[in-house]
Amino acid sequence: MDTKQLEKFKEILESRKQEILNQLYQTNKDIEDLYNSEPNDNIDFSVITASSQIEETIDHNLKQELEYIENSLLRIKKGNYGICEGCEEEINIERLKIKPHARYCINCREKYEKSKGL
Ligand SMILES: [Zn+2]
Repeated sequence: MDTKQLEKFKEILESRKQEILNQLYQTNKDIEDLYNSEPNDNIDFSVITASSQIEETIDHNLKQELEYIENSLLRIKKGNYGICEGCEEEINIERLKIKPHARYCINCREKYEKSKGL
């Protein structure tokens, strides 16, 4: 991968990182608002519980993506970005364009998913 492409991926990863941070902040704020709202007859607490569970799941997924993005940014710095963590071959650039924080090439990804029984 050339420097220009690397810079492009770095830009994409950094803006996605910012987006996730904003979303996480917004989610936490929403939950806080929900709990801080005055309890009254119009509030169904089971709805509050269900929606905060959904938000927790979203939260968890975003945090995981954030972790992968941080990992990718670190790899850009170290100079081994785009190298599969499984077989150490270069990950196809078209795959990186769809998923810039990918850790595995398609082959390893499939093996990994099979081993997890997905
Ligand atoms: Zn691989």
